[in-house]
Amino acid sequence: MAVEEFDLLVVGTGAGLNVASRARSKGMRVALFENSLMGGTCLNKGCIPSKILTYPAEVVRLIQKSADVGIQAKVEKADFDLVRERMWRLIVPDREGMEKAANADQEMAFVRDTAKFTAPYTLAAGGRSFHAPRIVLACGVRTDVPPIPGLEAAGYYTSESIFDIQKLPSSIVIIGGGYKAMEFGHFFSAFGTKVTIVGRNPMLLPHEEPEVSDLVYEIARSYMQVMVNAEVVEVKGGPEKTMVCRDRTTGAITEVKGEVLLVATGVRSNADWLDLPKGNIRADAKGYIMVDKHLETNAPGVYAMGDVIGRTMFRHTANYHSGLVWHNLFAKDKADVDEHAVPHAVFTYPEVASVGLTEAEVQENKIRYFVGYSNYLDCAKGYAMAESDGFVKVLVAAENLKILGASIVGPHAAILVQPLVYLMNAGDGSYVPMARSQVIHPALSECVANAFGNLSDPAHHHHEDHSSGA
Ligand SMILES: Cc1cc2nc3c(=O)[nH]c(=O)nc-3n(C[C@H](O)[C@H](O)[C@H](O)COP(=O)(O)OP(=O)(O)OC[C@H]3O[C@@H](n4cnc5c(N)ncnc54)[C@H](O)[C@@H]3O)c2cc1C
Repeated sequence: MAVEEFDLLVVGTGAGLNVASRARSKGMRVALFENSLMGGTCLNKGCIPSKILTYPAEVVRLIQKSADVGIQAKVEKADFDLVRERMWRLIVPDREGMEKAANADQEMAFVRDTAKFTAPYTLAAGGRSFHAPRIVLACGVRTDVPPIPGLEAAGYYTSESIFDIQKLPSSIVIIGGGYKAMEFGHFFSAFGTKVTIVGRNPMLLPHEEPEVSDLVYEIARSYMQVMVNAEVVEVKGGPEKTMVCRDRTTGAITEVKGEVLLVATGVRSNADWLDLPKGNIRADAKGYIMVDKHLETNAPGVYAMGDVIGRTMFRHTANYHSGLVWHNLFAKDKADVDEHAVPHAVFTYPEVASVGLTEAEVQENKIRYFVGYSNYLDCAKGYAMAESDGFVKVLVAAENLKILGASIVGPHAAILVQPLVYLMNAGDGSYVPMARSQVIHPALSECVANAFGNLSDPAHHHHEDHSSGA
């Protein structure tokens, strides 16, 4: 097989497409590989379809809660057909447009197949062989389905297949207690499906601050059945599937039933498709591609980015990586990946967002810090909204007032946390510019500013409403 020569090979059309497009705009010879849907996970099976589902769910919750502010209303119909239609109306033309553009580019090899290393700097796909001095591996992750007896025979959905369902099930059991489980649970229950969550961890959203996880658990239990610290040990098929769950502490067995089963447990690296050893590229024990602080693998000129490096798995992280990799591919002075202010949000009910370190991580790093809390209800807008549960928690370094981290749970958490991300990337990273600023009154932003106004030494502070009890 003749080896075709290129300037750059890119595997994956999620954030990998950013790099391929920039290289093409500079006239480089590029080969781009995709073995699934053009546009990757975010567009087709991730962020975008899931948010088109969770927004109407949020509207349902708002209507359900409106009596608290004097509005009696009820949802007459939650129209799943319309939601599905809105989902694909955005996604399909976007995907097809990208695919068309890639196919129309005569100077780019766009290969719809799984790329595999056959030798260092050499990939094979679609019956062809490609060589380049520079390669970008942006191949993502997929659901890791646990080996539960009976699961395969009973049948199940994952985040890769659930967006294709045509009608709402009467009941669904979701295995997992992370952000995917919580977002799908929020959606299905708001649309009238009976939802049972079976989480293995004792906490829901176990990576969040414990007070946040506790509040999410408390509120989620009002609209779903939630089991935590539970392991599904067997699945029995039939028109209704039965999940046999074992309490991980007591060993007690409970059976839960559902028409449909969704596995949202965790993910595994897609790097196994690449045959990395043939390219002499190292992965860690879990199969995530190992990179240095420049996102370069052990093979010079070969970079990996996005979910497949196994760090923070968000589309904004993958986008950020793509800019850094683009720079480092050609720069004399390579830039380091900066992970001090990675934000994320969970679009469940209540919404959760955070940035930076948790309090436990601050303590592990032995940083002296101040902690501040503020409840939504204590700012005028929060009261106007009758928002009795939400709160903001902020962590600041005692030494220099740098923002170390923040967590918000409640309406608009994702928007409210974002200014803190900017502050963490600006100037000296302290919260002082916020303290100097006028804050629009009465807006929820005041709640964030108030949390900084309430900073105190953790030794003397106890957040009464949402203490983890630790
Ligand atoms: C249900 C769900 C909801 C999510 N919600 C959010 C959210 O709200 N916000 C957020 O920031 N993130 C969210 N995410 C995560 C986000 O989707 C990912 O972090 C992001 O898409 C990762 O981008 P990527 O470019 O690394 O990989 P991907 O977008 O997964 O792209 C990799 C592509 O490469 C292909 N591929 C892999 N190996 C090969 C090979 N050898 N040859 C050819 N092709 C290959 C894969 O099939 C895939 O299409 C969500 C994910 C899911 C599943």
